[in-house]
This record gives sequence, structure tokens and C-alpha cells, in this order.
Amino acid sequence: MNQQVFISERVVTPQGLRPAAVIVEDQIIRAVVRRADVPASATIIELGQSALLPGLLDSHTHVNEPGRTEWEGFATASRAAAAGGYTTIVDMPLNCLPPTTTAQALEGKRELARTESTVDFAFWGGVVHDNQQHITELAAAGAAGYKCFLVHPGIDGFTLINEQQLRVALPHVQKTGLPLLVHAELPGPIEHAASALEHCDWRSYPTYLRSRPDESEVTAIELLLALCREFRFRLHIVHLATAKALPLLRRAKSEGLPVTVETCPHYLFFSAEQIADGWTLCKCAPPIRSHANRELLWQALRDGVIDLVATDHSPCPPEMKRLQEGNFRTAWGGVASLSTALPVMWSEAKRRGCALEDIARWMAEKPAELAGCGARKGKIAPGYDADLLIFDPDEEFTLTEDRLHYRHPVSPYLGRQFAGVVRQTFVRGTCVFSAGVFPGAPKGKEVLRPPRDAFHS
Ligand SMILES: [Zn+2]
Repeated sequence: MNQQVFISERVVTPQGLRPAAVIVEDQIIRAVVRRADVPASATIIELGQSALLPGLLDSHTHVNEPGRTEWEGFATASRAAAAGGYTTIVDMPLNCLPPTTTAQALEGKRELARTESTVDFAFWGGVVHDNQQHITELAAAGAAGYKCFLVHPGIDGFTLINEQQLRVALPHVQKTGLPLLVHAELPGPIEHAASALEHCDWRSYPTYLRSRPDESEVTAIELLLALCREFRFRLHIVHLATAKALPLLRRAKSEGLPVTVETCPHYLFFSAEQIADGWTLCKCAPPIRSHANRELLWQALRDGVIDLVATDHSPCPPEMKRLQEGNFRTAWGGVASLSTALPVMWSEAKRRGCALEDIARWMAEKPAELAGCGARKGKIAPGYDADLLIFDPDEEFTLTEDRLHYRHPVSPYLGRQFAGVVRQTFVRGTCVFSAGVFPGAPKGKEVLRPPRDAFHS
């Protein structure tokens, strides 16, 4: 079997950034060696000053297929992922129809992804108010874990789960050993805020911000941590937006609770003060909060209280953003960012003194651990899948529509300048993106968890 060797002055390894040669054979990284130790027979890919990073893994992607493929599908989402340096996406169980709340629905998704996905993929199953009987079967069918909402998810076809229903579901979740990813906002504070905002100007961002108060996130996280203490399931807080929950999360982690936390590029890039009236491209839930809040999220990410950064790529057709009327109440909430997350994160991380190793930890290693594939993906190390990203960290560019690659070119980042260009992306040793082009047919494979027979009740 022919060996490929990627040689760079800047290889991001678990031991740090260093000059190295990465030997790839039969889809796997066989060794990371010094240039002098490269076998003479190998095919050399000389990268010079371009950095070599582990392919990124997005643990929070909404593909929307089947059912809402006109919003986004596996073909377009996975190409956007490859262009953004991602080599694996983990699909969320909602916004598609049917939602992934049964093993049968999971099988339907799998069929589509197998033929359409350019990058590797896995699936989260849904935990909704009435599918307790499907929780174990979803694990046996290969779900990487579960997602649930404590508040209305903003879309039909997926229901929220209240505390009482969660108490019925949690023993099943706990038994599988898989993580439960939770949209942590409680309806109480949101409903309370709504009554005072009825006659306010909904083109104004401060109105939207007041409609989803910090308290809604904080009280949800308090509840979840109490349940985690009681049931000892693996809890993952998705898209944390409020810094006010950080002391709670810090304490929970020092107590040894099995909790992990994610935030998203848009919470680390934008701040409420910058969002103009009617600029619904920045609507998401929970909302983008203040500048001071954003800086506290950065600090928590650097300290490890926030473990990882995921995109929450949640696209929609352009008309659903209602840019004409600019109404924050009726516009779709979601920011699509698979192809832009890395340059957004790198530009912001770099000016705060963070390094490429931090990016690899937040966007590859930790998400892979969450998705249960941390022994195969997310690192440049012997035995790992040869998922590689060639990146020019010092090159700058202005974001234009042709760089987005997902179905609808809608993005709050358009027209802005960023540092860091994805040159090429390799999935298990095969180039899937190269300077704007996607060579070859889609060959993404499902990332299956190691076999485990503990799912019987
Ligand atoms: Zn989401």
C-alpha cells in the first residue's frame, strides 16, 4: 500500500505545534516522525509554512434532510463542512422530518447520508416528551447520544421535554452511557418577559434580547445540574450564551459531575451592542448577549469551563430570515456557519493570544470525545483516522458568497475580513476539498461507536 506523507513546519499534535512528517497509509495515520525518518518510497506532500491540523468535528449540525432538504441537505452541508475544514459532522435530530426520535428515522437519515455526504458523519437521537421507549433502541441503532429541549424548539415536529418527563427518560439515557445534549432555556422566564414586550418594537435587537433573559438559561442549567447529580447521566450543555451560568458550571465540574459545555462562534464573535435594528441574520436562541458577556465566555473557554466550540449550523431559506421587515419575533432563529466557523474562531482567538493548538482542542479533540469517537478522530496521532486540514493561518480574505457552499448563501459574516484560509481538507487520507473545488464523489462514512452490548434493559 502506498504511503502518503504530509510534511509541515507547523503540525498541530497532542504534544504541541512542531515540524513533523505525518505518515498516512490505508486511511489511517501510521506515524508522526521527523522529516529525516520519512521512508524513501512514500508520496510526499510538502506543505512548508502551511499548518497541518486534525480535521475538525462539528458536534452540532442541523442538516434538515429528509423533510426540509430545501433548507439544507447532506450534499450541501457536507461540502460546506469540507470547505470549512470539518471532516466529520454530527447531525441534530430536529428540523428534519421525521425527527430522529426512533431507530427507524435514524435508518432513513443514514441511507441518505451514505450516498450524499462528502465528510464522515454521525447522528444524535432525539429525546422528546413521549419517546422514552425508543431511547435504548436509538443507542443500539448507533446514535452517538441524545438531544433534548427544555423550551419550545421553534419548529414543529420535535417537542420540548419538561422536568417530569425528563425524570422518566433519564434512567434510560443513563443506562446507555451516552451523553444527553440539552438546549438549556426554561420557558418560565421567557413567558414572564413576553408579557412586558407585547407592544415593543420587534425590529429592535434589545427587544429580542429582553425576550430571552439570562435567567432562562441559568435556571435551566441549575435544574440540569441537580438532575445530573441525581441520575449521573452525561450532561452536555449546547450553545451556552450566558456568562451568568459559568460559576455554576465551574462548581459542577470541580465537584466531578459528568458535565461538558459548548458555545458557538457567533457568541464569541458578535455582541448585542453591534446588532443593528432589523439585522435578523444574528437571530438565534439563546440570543447573542453583551460585549462584556462575550469576553467572559472567551475567558471560560480558555479556562476549560467551556469545553468546546460547535457551529449550531442551522440554515433556512433566505426569506425566513425576513430581512425585509427585520422582525426579530418572526424571523427564523439560526446562524449557518459550517464553512466560516474556523476563520471566525481563528481570527478572534489569535488576537486574544490563543494558539492553533487551542483551536484543535476546542473544534476537533473535545467534540470528538463528546461524540464518542475520541479514540479515532480529532487528533494527529498514530492510529487515528487520517482526517487532516491544511490551513494558512496568516492569510487574510474577505468573506464572499462563493465561499459558503451550503444551500442558501445567508450569513452574518459576509463582507467581513478574516484570518485563516482552509487550503485543503482530507477525510481518511482522501482530498475532499482543495482551493474551492470538491474532487471526487461523496465518500463520507458513518462514524460508528465501538461495539458495546450494554444497551439491554
Ligand atoms: Zn441547534
